[in-house]
Amino acid sequence: MLRTPNDRNLLNFSGGPGALADSVLQQVQASIDSVPGVGLSILGISHRSKWFIDLVRDTEERVRALLGLSNAYHVLFLQGGATQQFSTVAMAFNAGSAHPAEYLETGYWSGKSIEGATFKDMNEKPGLSYPASNIKVAWSGRDSHYTQLPRNQELKLSKDAPYFHYVSNETVEGLQFKEVMGLDSVARICDMSSDFLSAPVAADRYALIYAHAQKNLGPAGVTIVVIKDSMLERIKPGLPPFLDYRTHVQAHSNFNTPPVFAIYVVNLITRWLMQEVGGLAQMEVINQQKAKILYDAIDESQGMYLSSVNPYDRSPMNVTFKLPSQALEKEFLRRAESRGFSGLGGHRSVGGVRASLYNGVTLGATQRLAEFMSEFKTEFSSHF
Ligand SMILES: *Cc1c(COP(=O)(O)O)cnc(C)c1O
Repeated sequence: MLRTPNDRNLLNFSGGPGALADSVLQQVQASIDSVPGVGLSILGISHRSKWFIDLVRDTEERVRALLGLSNAYHVLFLQGGATQQFSTVAMAFNAGSAHPAEYLETGYWSGKSIEGATFKDMNEKPGLSYPASNIKVAWSGRDSHYTQLPRNQELKLSKDAPYFHYVSNETVEGLQFKEVMGLDSVARICDMSSDFLSAPVAADRYALIYAHAQKNLGPAGVTIVVIKDSMLERIKPGLPPFLDYRTHVQAHSNFNTPPVFAIYVVNLITRWLMQEVGGLAQMEVINQQKAKILYDAIDESQGMYLSSVNPYDRSPMNVTFKLPSQALEKEFLRRAESRGFSGLGGHRSVGGVRASLYNGVTLGATQRLAEFMSEFKTEFSSHF
């Protein structure tokens, strides 16, 4: 069955769940009826089948190969999204700690990571005790409205912290770190949900990386956790098994029913990255080209498109901008929608416009958006 790519999918700039490569969508479409070599719908294959156990192993190996991970790391496929990890990380490595874990507050999602890591003593009932978390915000961009990121050299971090946590790409504001943050002597934990597998990463400098799938890797429903083996020994006792990373390491991400479909799509995406894109270095080249097209369109717009992000900290994944008035912004979004673009409205917490350029967004689609921006500018430049 031949099909032409759906233009609406091609022009999807959503912040997440986001666009996926058309060749992957085609395979997903076929798999709803029958997975090649299995003959069953992907929605009806047992998680205890040999096929699925092999699929998990293969996906893990592909993530390892893409990141160049050593055997000192485990790759897990978990549920609960990045939001669950905000709390799981703190419960595992921080509860009852004498020294605070240090966090960077650089935007909306790192703010959420701090909320999720903050819990009080639960020891009102004897036998149900669980110690409080101990969190310190080492740097906050709140007062400058999250328009720029700190540099390593300006941070005063403690060598005694049980871990250091940050968000590599702030999806809502459109900021991305260009260096690995934190001290090498402190376990480094990073939420890479919105830029995981978009470029090579020095994974061996991290104790734990987590990223849900729905921005760059697949559909919602699965979260990848890359955890260093030595971190398993540091997990606080008393956690329920489901919240203890060791349970999932031992069960090879098959402790309870995993999201079979989501993991299957992640597998297809990792194959696409390796075989069609040619690896993460090549993915980065394409992603940088896409970002340059839109940032150039902003910078050359003579005030029609306004970026408030410090240029050095701009994210290649989420390009955020505003227009000179609310009325123009509304008109821009309305016209974009009628031209087939979707997902361009900024996050509900900040408004404005956001074009998310995840791996699945093509260079061609990005060029079409830049052309639309240019036409809109020409037509409306006399309106402000
Ligand atoms: C989207 C996003 C989240 C939220 O993830 P859920 O899977 O919805 O819990 C967390 N962190 C970052 C950086 C994000 O971009």
